[in-house]
Amino acid sequence: PVVTRFAPSPTGYLHIGGARTALFNWLYARHHGGKYLLRVEDTDRARSTEPAIGAIFDGLSWLGLEGDEEAVFQFARSDRHAEVARKLIEAGHAYRCYMTQEELAAHRAKAQEERRPFRLASPWRDADAATWPAAEPFVVRIKAPREGETVIDDLVQGTVTVRNEEIDDFVLLRSDGTPTYMLAVVVDDHDMGVTHVIRGDDHLNNAFRQLAIIDAMSAIEGWGRPIYGHVPLIHGADGAKLSKRHGALGVDSYRDELGILPEALFNYLLRLGWGHGDDEIIAREQAVAWFDIAHVGKSPSRFDLAKLQNLNGHYLREADDGRLASLVAQRIDGAANLALLEQAMPVLKVRAKDLNELAEGAAFLFATRPLALTEKAAALLTEEARTRLASMHERLSGEANWTAESLETSLKAMAEDLGIGLGKLAQPLRAALTGQTTSPGIFDVLVLLGREESLARIGAQVA
Ligand code: GLU
Repeated sequence: PVVTRFAPSPTGYLHIGGARTALFNWLYARHHGGKYLLRVEDTDRARSTEPAIGAIFDGLSWLGLEGDEEAVFQFARSDRHAEVARKLIEAGHAYRCYMTQEELAAHRAKAQEERRPFRLASPWRDADAATWPAAEPFVVRIKAPREGETVIDDLVQGTVTVRNEEIDDFVLLRSDGTPTYMLAVVVDDHDMGVTHVIRGDDHLNNAFRQLAIIDAMSAIEGWGRPIYGHVPLIHGADGAKLSKRHGALGVDSYRDELGILPEALFNYLLRLGWGHGDDEIIAREQAVAWFDIAHVGKSPSRFDLAKLQNLNGHYLREADDGRLASLVAQRIDGAANLALLEQAMPVLKVRAKDLNELAEGAAFLFATRPLALTEKAAALLTEEARTRLASMHERLSGEANWTAESLETSLKAMAEDLGIGLGKLAQPLRAALTGQTTSPGIFDVLVLLGREESLARIGAQVA
């Protein structure tokens, strides 16, 4: 059975690239009826923080990408990592290296002098355990194979080959006994039963080192290799690696600041580097049915905020109005009437691209009298316009039926009587009712505000 995992380092928020890695792992597991696990790689004690862990879980749950089991915390497993290092030493696949910083520096300097790439050749690699100094500090290094080559059949990158002489005897345990990232990842993936490692292609080089550990443990305990899928990183619209400059924010910022819906970000991240023909709108269940890691492209995908916003507009129009009303209410200062907001959603969401635009569009509903007018709206309320508002006030006061249809009939008749276009009435009316020059259709506005409030707002602008 397929087991995937998402293994973030909690040194910052859940960024867009991490969220996409999580999504691909989730989809791969769902598509194959397998499991998707989470592992918090919190071994960097100085940079890992509780708020970052919180932000990552929060972002994942918002996107519907929670793990299928309780998350594994890597730091808590240090003893187990050390145990594997011990087994590797005992079986002769790793060794204690007592080289000092000075010795290492001297080796490096010599390589530079001789203009050859530095490759560690520790004199301790083949030293007999009997010669190990008792009280000196040491690191534990893997005895990496020096001949032959390592081949990875990567689900995304294809066949990638590295000559083993390029893989150095990297460190497994530091001199304070703590495991390195390279060791911890391999041990945890094995113990969690991970079958497929899907992650950013910045880890492709690490995979060859990690295989050195896995192959050694394979010889000792029969560990198997996972299947790898190294996904290209996300770049900005200008082709450079994605950074804050491109609007690469934490997932929480897309939710809180940009007013994006989770299903829109889900769909957007899915389409970022993966496609199903020309389909742009791909909902969750469809994505599970269609997802195929082999169709993830090899070149970096470009992040495009405008595309995300367009998708978001689509999902806003599909979203339940009650749900939108409560999301928008959080963005409106003061108390917003939820029932009224929900009633207004169908006309508000037609053009909105995010929750902020919805909130801006809804603001007039909760404005208090006297309404603050935008400059443009104020300019519309000329002497002539105010006179017309007075006539409209009179006519609408007598309106028996406060529905969009009958209000429309009534104001059209009035415009005809006056020999003017409907716009000449609608424009000052909109200014008086909303304080703005743009709003949903004027008859919808009248209905949403209701008779009493509408007449009061019109009345307030009549000289
Ligand atoms: N913790 C690593 C990272 O956040 C991922 C390690 C992995 O997926 O193997 O980049």
